[in-house]
Amino acid sequence: MTKKLFDILIVGGGMVGASLALRFSQAGLQVAVIEKTPLSSMQADAADPTEPPIDLRVSAINRRSEQWLQDIGVWQHLPATRLCPYRALQAFEGDSEPQNQGLTFTASELNQPYLGHIIENISLQRAMWQQFNEFITLFCPATVTALSQQSEVAGYASVSTAEFGEISGRLLIAADGAQSQLRTLAGIGHNGWQYQQACLVATVATEYPQQDITWQQFTEQGPRAFLPLPGAQASLVWYDDLAKVKALAQLPAAQLAAEIQQSFPAKLGKITVKQQGWFPLTRMHANRYWQGRVVLVGDAAHSINPLAGQGVNLGFADAALLAELVLQALAEGRDLADSELLQQYWQQRKKANLLMMSAMDGFYQLFSSRWPVLRLARKLGLTAAAKAGPLKAWVGAYAAGLKD
Ligand SMILES: Cc1cc2nc3c(=O)[nH]c(=O)nc-3n(C[C@H](O)[C@H](O)[C@H](O)COP(=O)(O)OP(=O)(O)OC[C@H]3O[C@@H](n4cnc5c(N)ncnc54)[C@H](O)[C@@H]3O)c2cc1C
Repeated sequence: MTKKLFDILIVGGGMVGASLALRFSQAGLQVAVIEKTPLSSMQADAADPTEPPIDLRVSAINRRSEQWLQDIGVWQHLPATRLCPYRALQAFEGDSEPQNQGLTFTASELNQPYLGHIIENISLQRAMWQQFNEFITLFCPATVTALSQQSEVAGYASVSTAEFGEISGRLLIAADGAQSQLRTLAGIGHNGWQYQQACLVATVATEYPQQDITWQQFTEQGPRAFLPLPGAQASLVWYDDLAKVKALAQLPAAQLAAEIQQSFPAKLGKITVKQQGWFPLTRMHANRYWQGRVVLVGDAAHSINPLAGQGVNLGFADAALLAELVLQALAEGRDLADSELLQQYWQQRKKANLLMMSAMDGFYQLFSSRWPVLRLARKLGLTAAAKAGPLKAWVGAYAAGLKD
């Protein structure tokens, strides 16, 4: 088999990996993407004129991520019919009566037209893949079986695949998700835990027309979240004990709808369940973000409680910084895997990612606790935060990705 040497070799063509492939290819670098999912799953059925149903996996994309997606020329190509802007974020305890509005952040308070958009992961990924150009070589479906970092003198590292043989790159990017195989092959350890709870996700049709608010109700059993979708639809997230979540996920749609109506606040209105599934809740943080010529981005470096919908936003922030530093090294004639730049990337992103992960854990512990003292603390916290202008503005801007 012929030797394939690229400037940048990315393992994992998910949202984060694909965005980096585009950025580097736009700078004229030769990029390889190795993805285990068959290409067919990335192609919409052009012969089918009907709008496909909304996929179960959706993400809240904040303003900073939107900027990154604009910069790489993807945002402009996202189908408007699959995007839902949200202009308010609300957190409350117990019922949702007007006297108990908890804490609400609005776009107008921050002088913004909106705080972010909800979009399906697959639509975003597809839009990126459609922009892949002649500088990107796709190895798909393919899975990495080994890593060799022996060619330090030659200035590259290689991976082996059963399907395409050996593929080499000057910089290897692990964007292969939370179970990253490249991370393991590079000998990078990680720490973290599985939370005792899991979450049920359901795509539903709603009685009410399209909403522009995303809300979370905190209950003693765990949060219940509402994310608006295009049209009269929503994505609901129900956090609870693992056994309960698994049992809910197996219910027929009509029965699950009845359970949701009982457990979610009345302001949800009537719903019909279209799709359902469940996800474990994991916290994982890599012990370091680089080793030799391998560097980690996105979920391969960190996975976070999805409570505040920040996972892929952190991944896009990793991607933006890594691209900036690597392109700077390129302009200065330095090695693309220069250890100083990889160290700088790790130090900067570790700090920001850890802050968000710890904030989510603090929130999660506080709001899932049944201790009276913590219950009082969170009630006071919600009330105090609701009144504290500058603090509230900072939290709102942080959640919308407008501040570090
Ligand atoms: C219930 C739930 C709700 C969420 N909601 C939000 C939200 O609202 N907002 C938000 O920002 N985040 C959210 N997240 C988190 C978000 O989904 C992840 O952070 C995001 O998908 C990570 O993107 P990634 O590209 O790093 O990894 P992934 O999406 O995991 O992509 C990894 C890619 O690598 C490929 N791959 C894996 N292994 C290999 C291999 N060995 N060889 C080749 N290819 C491989 C996979 O096929 C995949 O395409 C949520 C997560 C969950 C579970």
